[in-house]
Amino acid sequence: MRILILGPQGSGKGTQAKGIAALHATPHIATGDILREAVSRGTDLGRRVQPILVRGDLVPDELMVDLIRERLADEEGFVLDGFPRTVPQAEALDAMLEEIGKPLDAVILLQVSDEVATSRLHARAAAEGRADDSPDGIQNRLRLYHELTEPVVDRYRAEGTLIVVDGDRAIRDVSASIEDSLAQVGARW
Ligand code: AMP
Repeated sequence: MRILILGPQGSGKGTQAKGIAALHATPHIATGDILREAVSRGTDLGRRVQPILVRGDLVPDELMVDLIRERLADEEGFVLDGFPRTVPQAEALDAMLEEIGKPLDAVILLQVSDEVATSRLHARAAAEGRADDSPDGIQNRLRLYHELTEPVVDRYRAEGTLIVVDGDRAIRDVSASIEDSLAQVGARW
């Protein structure tokens, strides 16, 4: 089963992606986690992306596409979280999956308002102290989401693969909606 989960930062997509992956014993591939791990290990990639992450900017498309190509190469199924974030990334993903004959089964959008996303991110900043959860970082990431990632959402909406889920509810209620929707589209694991 190959699933994408989209939504602004603070929509709960990391939590839901982990839940779907665990429930269906499928790898959870989160680009933000991969990048943060590279930063904490001090690898070349980590040193390169560290200032970008702190500002809440986006890592260049070519770098992200190479990283995902490598990471998806041996996977039969996945729950992809944090990629694609731009139209060029989405086009590259489409091309990659077409090349290996493994199309996406579903694209889930976790929808929350900017107000909800912002207040959740401020709460996370207090709890976890993530470097990019500064007030400027939060504002920048939401701005980039609207500018660069919403066109990706529109693309999947136009293709008819998009499942929209209201993310402004308790975690277990959101999970239940996602599982219902996946069952409806005939997701097979
Ligand atoms: P996340 O944990 O998904 O919120 O990602 C944290 C940060 O990693 C983002 O603010 C970006 O700086 C970077 N990042 C993660 N995924 C991508 C991507 N697909 N394209 C560009 N930058 C990314």
